[in-house]
Amino acid sequence: MHSERETSKLGVIERYREYLPVNESTPIVSLGEGTTPLVFCPRLSERVGRAVFVKNEGVNPTGSFKDRGMTVAVSKSMERKAKALICASTGNTSASAAAYAARAGISCAVVLPVGKIATGKLLQAFVCGAKIVALEGNFDDALRIVRELGEQRDLAVVNSINPDRIAGQKTAAFEIIDDMGDAPDFHLLPVGNAGNITAYWAGYREYHARERSTKLPAMIGFQAAGAAPIFYNRIVEKPETMASAIRIGNPASWKQARAAITESHGAIDVVSDEELLAAQAWLAQHEGIFVEPASAAPVAGLFKCCDSKEAAYSFHKIPEESQIVCTVTGHGLKDPDVITTQMKELKSVPATVNDVRRAVGL
Ligand SMILES: *Cc1c(COP(=O)(O)O)cnc(C)c1O
Repeated sequence: MHSERETSKLGVIERYREYLPVNESTPIVSLGEGTTPLVFCPRLSERVGRAVFVKNEGVNPTGSFKDRGMTVAVSKSMERKAKALICASTGNTSASAAAYAARAGISCAVVLPVGKIATGKLLQAFVCGAKIVALEGNFDDALRIVRELGEQRDLAVVNSINPDRIAGQKTAAFEIIDDMGDAPDFHLLPVGNAGNITAYWAGYREYHARERSTKLPAMIGFQAAGAAPIFYNRIVEKPETMASAIRIGNPASWKQARAAITESHGAIDVVSDEELLAAQAWLAQHEGIFVEPASAAPVAGLFKCCDSKEAAYSFHKIPEESQIVCTVTGHGLKDPDVITTQMKELKSVPATVNDVRRAVGL
């Protein structure tokens, strides 16, 4: 079958071309990203007493929202005839960059903090043929070095400091408004390097300015308690959390995140690793949505907003007819190690109907 389009599903550049920095001479590198499900969650809504929708970004081509920005960043890099792509990554950026580089036929180097990358994400970068550099340092060190290399050579840096990444990622806000008919009242999401909160806020404002929505949501970001520079308002030298995607001590888009929170009358808050793991399991068991630990932050945060007096933002004063969107950023299969340690060892049973019936407990 031949088609003018790259994929049978519209990628974000084709769907939102007029809002993106592309023209006729931009070679479009797409894997059919975006148009992810906005899932109404009845049990989550019941638990918090307000309508809650989950924007499931884990179903993007490489399993995270990074693909929305990567399609634009890689397409623009090809237009500028870059020699190669390079990025620092906590995992998902490298998985996405490697896949889009393979698709574009350009080489890609990823600089990762040694021993700190979830298994699935490392596999993704490897299988797509990226050059993997294991750095003796953390993500912030990796980004510092990549930035310097990007200035010196003909390399396209595809981290979220690249404005094309932010431009692509804002399409998630467009999709939410297109699906709901208007913006939600609250938007909750995890915050690491703070590119995504920056992108969503840009997207919401842009659609509002073009009268595609009547309101703007309050942006509420959640950091892991051991890696919460924006919440504590200081650089964290040794960020610690099992949610590796948000293990960042000095966010690149710190100022923009602050602006998004202030302008939208939102908030920044923290959740502990225990709260993250509990929310991850709860979402899988009650709504069937399996996300990686960092992605459970908005759900853990939502519970905190509703249950805890210590929350930076309390939902007690919020009208019950409010609509809430939580972005879950990445797929649970990327980081199986956390769950593996919780799993009980399986005992085998003989292959008879009676044994299986007994084992099932029916
Ligand atoms: C990158 C990432 C984040 C953090 O996004 P920022 O734009 O860096 O704030 C959160 N969750 C997942 C799964 C990610 O891959």
